[in-house]
Amino acid sequence: MERTLSIVKPDGVKKNIIGEVIKRFEKNGLKVVGLKLANLSKKEAEGFYAVHKSRPFFESLTGFMSSGPVALMVLSGDNAIKKVRDLMGATDPKNAAPGTIRKDFADSIEANIVHGSDGPDTAAFEIPYFFNALEIFE
Ligand code: ADP
Ligand code: MG
Repeated sequence: MERTLSIVKPDGVKKNIIGEVIKRFEKNGLKVVGLKLANLSKKEAEGFYAVHKSRPFFESLTGFMSSGPVALMVLSGDNAIKKVRDLMGATDPKNAAPGTIRKDFADSIEANIVHGSDGPDTAAFEIPYFFNALEIFE
């Protein structure tokens, strides 16, 4: 069993597809063990994406991520990190495989609907960034 953090980004919430994203996760053997809506401050988005601080898209990305409510979730399952990444598809929807969330719904490389931790170390940082132990149920 492994845990990962996923986010339905502001564009996904606006498109009313929180349920569609969760359905794809659940259908693929993942269990939602933590779930909430939040409107991140710019500072909270900057802390979350601190690893990208020196990238040219950092300002725009953190502005986008704090532009409206997001759905934060902790998912649990066998190989959960890779499973979520596979279901998301490539960062740029133009390169995303057919049937992936980003291919089906994303408008751009920035507004790409969904986040998923990219490895065990990242998940170990990202899950407690948003959830305390009492907010995770499994
Ligand atoms: P992923 O979300 O697939 O792990 P990254 O960690 O590389 O992708 O980037 C984090 C987020 O930053 C992406 O999901 C996307 O929203 C945004 N992003 C990445 N690359 C670019 C880019 N070249 N231009 C604008 N936004 C980008
Ligand atoms: Mg990433």
